[in-house]
Amino acid sequence: MADEGLVENFHEHTATRRHFAEPIVFWDETLRDGEQTPGVHFSPEEKLRIAEVLSEMGISVINAGIPVVSEEEAEAVRRVAAAGLAADILAAARTVPADIDAVIRSGATHIAIFVAASNVHLKFKLKMSQDQVLSAATRSVRQAKDAGLHVAFVTEDTVRAPFDFVEKLYLAVKAEGADRLVVADTVGIMTPLTFAWYLREFLRRIGPADWSVHCHNDFGMATANTLTALELGATSPHVCVNGLGERAGNTPLEELALSLERLYGVRTGLDLSRLYELSRLVEEISGVPVSPTKAVVGYNAFSHEAGIHTHGILAHTLTYEPVQPEIVGRQRRMILGKHTGKAALVEKLKERGMDLPDPVLVDLLQRLKATTEQRSKEDLELFLVEYRSLFEQPGMSDKEFWKLVREMGL
Ligand code: MN
Repeated sequence: MADEGLVENFHEHTATRRHFAEPIVFWDETLRDGEQTPGVHFSPEEKLRIAEVLSEMGISVINAGIPVVSEEEAEAVRRVAAAGLAADILAAARTVPADIDAVIRSGATHIAIFVAASNVHLKFKLKMSQDQVLSAATRSVRQAKDAGLHVAFVTEDTVRAPFDFVEKLYLAVKAEGADRLVVADTVGIMTPLTFAWYLREFLRRIGPADWSVHCHNDFGMATANTLTALELGATSPHVCVNGLGERAGNTPLEELALSLERLYGVRTGLDLSRLYELSRLVEEISGVPVSPTKAVVGYNAFSHEAGIHTHGILAHTLTYEPVQPEIVGRQRRMILGKHTGKAALVEKLKERGMDLPDPVLVDLLQRLKATTEQRSKEDLELFLVEYRSLFEQPGMSDKEFWKLVREMGL
């Protein structure tokens, strides 16, 4: 990050305490957890299109979905698995023989077998005892290993489960041959320091392993928590393009990749220059708009309006930009508005070869500010009404649902 000694980089001072795995195996969940974003549905063609770009960019593992969910889902996984992509194609399964059979039939080479671990999940959702979970888990790992699959074992809600049970469960599946162990912060309640403590304790209890984390963004800490895990040697971070996923979503691929490369100097092997293109593709296919202020891929992430900022940027981009937009395939935008200053105006006029004397510039600037301040917000309000109505009830509307019920004669 430091260019020509212009800025200090304190990441370098603590770098010795970090132990990044080499290589870091990016595990993309856009087609599975990302598709579980309320209202989102990907067709097999759409899944394939996204998977192709992910693979071309250098993503190592792509979770294509859960084949047992539906015939269409099974078809999607089959198509992604048969596409001959460079990435390893993974499909997910519960600890149920039929689920694992469906993955075996899909042609995926990797499987993620998941089962819940916390007491609240066991008691109210699975209605299973810890012993029942343990035997289902080991039986399932054995079934998948016997079929020659690369097996990742995931517990839902790992970090809210009794540690002794987590230890027993993971040691058991490890002994059964599970290749990768995934710790999931399913409801996003971890913070970086707590997670660091948790993961060190997890590693102390289970011993050497290829391990991975699945973080959620309920408190806005998915990226920070995933970075914490990587600093401690996690092999395989779960990510979703645009941070899609259940509720507030998962760790955004673009945030994690750029942080590793530009803050820590870690080589991810990913083609960062395609991050923006990928983001727009997923935005278009998912129908979930990216927030303007979203890091890396938000519309405003490389826009400047304030006079002081544009003046600084025009002199040296390091003043107000931590990275150059071109790195992620974007361009800087200078916005003319009420906060514009003279320097930005001079720069703008250069586009037409215009060089105006100072008094004219001052006059133009005053008119520009007055115009933007007086501008009607009507268009924006109409847009927001439409936008909110789309997202107040994503998925099937009540009207559609009750029509479906009536059509069935219920
Ligand atoms: Mn999840």
